Amino acid sequence: MQTNDSSSTFDVVIIGAGAAGLMCAAVAGRRGRKTLLIEHAEKVGKKILISGGGRCNFTNLHTSPANYLSENPHFCKSALSRYTPHDFIALVEQYGITYHEKTLGQLFCDDSSRQIVQMLESECRAGGVECWTGCDVQSVAENNHETVRFLLETTRGMVSAESLVIATGGLSIPKMGATDFGQRLAKQFGLRLTPMKPALVPITTNEAQTSFGAISGVSLDAIAECGGVAFRENILFTHRGMSGPAILQASSYWERGNAMTLNTAPTLDFEHLWQENRSTTTTLKNVLAQYLPKRFVEAFCDEYAHDLANTPFSNLPLKGYNALAERLHAWCITPNGTEGYAKAEVTAGGVDTNELSSKTMESKNVRGLYFIGEVVDVTGWLGGYNFQWAWASGVAAGQAA
Ligand SMILES: Cc1cc2nc3c(=O)[nH]c(=O)nc-3n(C[C@H](O)[C@H](O)[C@H](O)COP(=O)(O)OP(=O)(O)OC[C@H]3O[C@@H](n4cnc5c(N)ncnc54)[C@H](O)[C@@H]3O)c2cc1C
Repeated sequence: MQTNDSSSTFDVVIIGAGAAGLMCAAVAGRRGRKTLLIEHAEKVGKKILISGGGRCNFTNLHTSPANYLSENPHFCKSALSRYTPHDFIALVEQYGITYHEKTLGQLFCDDSSRQIVQMLESECRAGGVECWTGCDVQSVAENNHETVRFLLETTRGMVSAESLVIATGGLSIPKMGATDFGQRLAKQFGLRLTPMKPALVPITTNEAQTSFGAISGVSLDAIAECGGVAFRENILFTHRGMSGPAILQASSYWERGNAMTLNTAPTLDFEHLWQENRSTTTTLKNVLAQYLPKRFVEAFCDEYAHDLANTPFSNLPLKGYNALAERLHAWCITPNGTEGYAKAEVTAGGVDTNELSSKTMESKNVRGLYFIGEVVDVTGWLGGYNFQWAWASGVAAGQAA
């Protein structure tokens, strides 16, 4: 990417060089648009670099609109159908980046997420995109001119733009440079925001004050259900509550005051277990520990079946056994909060999709102003869906801005 700032008049200015901004800049630049990408951090694509444990879960093979939360679940359809996981995979393959499917359609780099950032930087270079890192935008004003619609005051001087694309992301992980710039700018231009909250985030629970607080680090296969949506993956006990993919997924559907239901033994048939162990003198606790993590069984029995835990299975009262089995299959927990934006992978909510064209991401009321990526009220599940939205919305705006 070029880094000189000799001329300050651009066809397209994009604020935020994350996943969506880089993709949008590359597409706009390759269309021959004179494009500037402004990033306030010292380097581009920081979240891409840390994503997927350093291997970037860059898309999901099973991407469909059903994998996204939004006040308008139809909004994401157009962009997602016009730039699919296979389009991004083709780009990745063109750059010789090798990848693998980890689980559930999730594609990761074999080597490093740095390859994805380098690929996007290279695409931007091919489109002649100018990139200013370490640059802050102090103000944005609308201008009544056909080709100079926006005037930006930046720490590198005044910039004018025909099209302005906001790609500053969500509020998650402020330590990494997240700001509410995009949301404030939306308000400045009269666009409505939907309520925002941390999503894909560990929950804090009252249960952590009990025996479960002591089993931090224990994980198990479970089904977490919240708001009518269920996810089967691991859950992980933490000092303050619970995390793990199933909990993170369910957290996006959680509203304060609501409960979450956990099936902590999805493969266990308790009726069969009862019949099979009628004559065994092994304690209930030890029978359960053959199927579930021992420390979890101990904590669970401590809380809910203290009197039965050390009873030989053959002496168990059916009623007590059934009550415990029922609870293991449908454990109702009440989160008292979440770990917040400091730990959230994404932000749910944002610029109201009713304000935007689903084809181009352009504001319906402010000509030339676009919003893409996580700043928009479109939030993906865990597993590569958020990057796929960033690429797809970035391409949609890049083709139009
Ligand atoms: C730890 C972690 C791991 C993740 N792993 C995955 C994963 O494996 N797969 C997946 O699909 N999703 C993952 N995500 C989510 C994914 O990173 C985001 O959804 C995605 O990056 C959103 O893209 P974006 O371009 O909208 O925002 P971002 O990528 O956040 O980019 C926004 C950019 O704007 C810049 N910016 C902010 N404010 C300003 C300002 N005022 N001026 C100039 N620049 C500004 C930021 O510095 C940043 O570079 C992960 C998130 C986290 C936090």
